[in-house]
Amino acid sequence: MATGYCVKCKAAREIADPQQITMKNGRPATQGRCPVCGTKIFKIGAPTGAAPAAPEPTQAKPESTVPQR
Ligand SMILES: [Zn+2]
Repeated sequence: MATGYCVKCKAAREIADPQQITMKNGRPATQGRCPVCGTKIFKIGAPTGAAPAAPEPTQAKPESTVPQR
């Protein structure tokens, strides 16, 4: 369920009847309504399901291959 910020409730709400739209710059956005007060909620980003891949932290291996002899 996509969530957005309702400016009327001044709280984060679930976006009722979410619709994916495209902004002028080509970026995806989600538009819907607040299920509590019915105010239009606009959130930048695609709806859930198209979450951007989180970059996994690369584990740097300590290079301590110094031959001790
Ligand atoms: Zn609201």
